[in-house]
Amino acid sequence: MWAQPTLDFKRIRESSVMNEHAFTMGIDIGSSTTKCAIMANGATIAAQVVVPAGAGTSGPSRAIEEVLGIASLKLGEFAMIAATGYGRNSSKEAALTVSELSCHTKGAVWLFPGARTVIDIGGQDCKALSISAEGQLVNFVMNDKCAAGTGRFIEVMARILEMDVSEMGATDEKATGRIDISSTCTVFAESEVISQLSQGVGNISDLVAGIHRSVAVRAAGLARRLGIEEPVMMTGGVSLNSGVIRALEHELGVKVRTDPLAQYAGAIGAAIYAYDNC
Ligand code: ADP
Repeated sequence: MWAQPTLDFKRIRESSVMNEHAFTMGIDIGSSTTKCAIMANGATIAAQVVVPAGAGTSGPSRAIEEVLGIASLKLGEFAMIAATGYGRNSSKEAALTVSELSCHTKGAVWLFPGARTVIDIGGQDCKALSISAEGQLVNFVMNDKCAAGTGRFIEVMARILEMDVSEMGATDEKATGRIDISSTCTVFAESEVISQLSQGVGNISDLVAGIHRSVAVRAAGLARRLGIEEPVMMTGGVSLNSGVIRALEHELGVKVRTDPLAQYAGAIGAAIYAYDNC
């Protein structure tokens, strides 16, 4: 975890320095969640919100409303608003749209200066980015065709196990072994897990560790196609799952870093692009 500049937003609102701040908003409209980040001068996060509803839903407008409420700002007070992600073209609030790859690179490097490989696992895709020492995107690979190796796979499995995705990491920590899932296809893997449960599988934690390994194997395979350069960072909502991070470290044989704000990498990147363009 790294120290990021934080902003005493209330103090700034109440003081004359308010006028010296250019506020920008980055909106990352993903397939399953919407993330909003407000930044001051493209350097400091003032507020951030994630809503578990993405493109084509009320998620984007709810996320904007919530983040504006936290920051006590109105849309008219922003120097620039930029949207990224799968649903970026549907944003009425954003004057600028920026590609996901550009925003994820920018946001990941802001969160972890010096990151050379970024593995982003979101709701319905997984991508690996190779980043130069100067913080520029050099190459990438992406899987957005199949739910295996994505957050969706974990969501499907969590539902069968009657768990919330947020419980999966802690459950994995209790594993004493691992029950591997042999099917890569989400639909077949779902049947496999149901069959394990109906046969009275010994330890649910071992099954969860097997589910996380399945995701990690796919992500590691994608990242290896780029060539792994350290430091390696993980972003996207799945980076909140410590079980996947551990499994990924095991598969790649390197330390995988993350950050509590790693799900916001795209939104942070968009807010920085907004600042650069205002
Ligand atoms: P999108 O592709 O919509 O941008 P995200 O990057 O926000 O998606 O990732 C969504 C995924 O993150 C979900 O499918 C879920 O697996 C995972 N996730 C979200 N919140 C949590 C949490 N609190 N703990 C663990 N995993 C989470």
